[in-house]
Amino acid sequence: MSDRVKRFPIGGTHLPEEKGLTSESPIVSMPPPAEILVPLKQHIGLPVRPAVAVGDRVRPGSLIGHEADGLRAKVHSSVNGEVVDLTVAALPDGSTVPAVRIRVDRESDEPAQTLEPIDTDLLDADAYREAVIARVEEAGIVGLGGATFPTHVKLAASDPIDTVIVNGAECEPYITVDDRLMQEEAEKVFRGLEIVRRTVGAEVGFVACEINKPVALKRLREVAAGFPNISAQALDTRYPHGAEKHLIKAVLNREVPTRALPGAVGVLVNNVQTVCAIADAVDRGRVLSERVVTVSGHGVTTPRNLRVPLGAAVSDLIAFCDGPAVDEPAIIVGGPMTGMRVTDLAIPVTKATSGVILLTESEYRGSRHMACIRCGRCVEVCPMYLPPNRMTAYINNDMLEDAIAAGLDACILCGACQFVCPSKRPLLEWINHGKAAMAAKRRR
Ligand code: SF4
Ligand code: SF4
Repeated sequence: MSDRVKRFPIGGTHLPEEKGLTSESPIVSMPPPAEILVPLKQHIGLPVRPAVAVGDRVRPGSLIGHEADGLRAKVHSSVNGEVVDLTVAALPDGSTVPAVRIRVDRESDEPAQTLEPIDTDLLDADAYREAVIARVEEAGIVGLGGATFPTHVKLAASDPIDTVIVNGAECEPYITVDDRLMQEEAEKVFRGLEIVRRTVGAEVGFVACEINKPVALKRLREVAAGFPNISAQALDTRYPHGAEKHLIKAVLNREVPTRALPGAVGVLVNNVQTVCAIADAVDRGRVLSERVVTVSGHGVTTPRNLRVPLGAAVSDLIAFCDGPAVDEPAIIVGGPMTGMRVTDLAIPVTKATSGVILLTESEYRGSRHMACIRCGRCVEVCPMYLPPNRMTAYINNDMLEDAIAAGLDACILCGACQFVCPSKRPLLEWINHGKAAMAAKRRR
């Protein structure tokens, strides 16, 4: 490992972290609620088709959604129970997708359905690659940092890869999922990375972790001693180190071109929880039917990290954390920088849900904004060297071509510009509108 603390060179900002609310809170398993609603689209791509009918009995690990045209990821039950409805579920972005409602049977002690563990020691390179990719697909694993790109597709891509990085930057305020996993399950993180490294034929791997997680970093360094091709890499605390392109620039000093993927520069990046899921699928035959979620903010009574059955409602998580601590908190699904405010608490936890953050009025940046005072702070912090003030002025005046010429395509939606804006201008929301208009225009 390089002892040097690395960082990306220009732009970005230092955010108030608020991670102390949960960084010392061990991951606790939340019991299944009375019913769950499991979306059949928890990945980038089209919804998968139901693999069950009303009245079917399921147990943890049972396949409930499979097959779709194009990109897809299988969906499994997280509970023992009975399918009671094939319906729709609302997601945080306001869209609705097909979903399976399951009434939980708390009396049932049916064991989880698992796959046969893979004895990777016995396989040559080609058989190893084939077996791991098939297993990751079977287990329904997607990028659990929020991207939800199907992981088997990423592993099967044809770009030659020399380096795999596990993204443990976790730079959003409040969220401590990866921090806790690196503290509690560092061996599994390394094992998952080693599986990915061998699968794609990379020479080396890094687990990159910001220095604001000193316990996790210490554990990673201890465990690294047992893995000759993998190191722990310390990163400075700076937003947005968790953005793939910035992570690669910081760790390897390689530039990923605009609109290109990390494979273009020989790198594959996976999230901490994703590599843990890969290790579980390969070594224990477990499919992905639960995930760790941080429930935090000064608006919740007991902030903590929960291992949650996929399909549990946001309201179930808040109730398990002893309810709101204030009247009418602002509830964000995801991190406060890139997540979405929700009012419908029946929204289910999906593979994309890293956090449920309850903010008090003073924590939440209200929607009342003032005129731009041309201070230039948004330009200073933009890690993509864009002019967010100018870009959003174009978007708001229906000058989409000018916004695109100013760099709309290159924006990674990190929200750093909005965070520093003294006029509280909702720059990220406007940029999102601009990106949606740009995508619609390109489809025409
Ligand atoms: S313009 Fe985009 S990339 Fe730049 S700071 Fe704003 S959200 Fe981040
Ligand atoms: S930070 Fe806000 S006020 Fe300052 S230039 Fe950017 S948009 Fe205008």
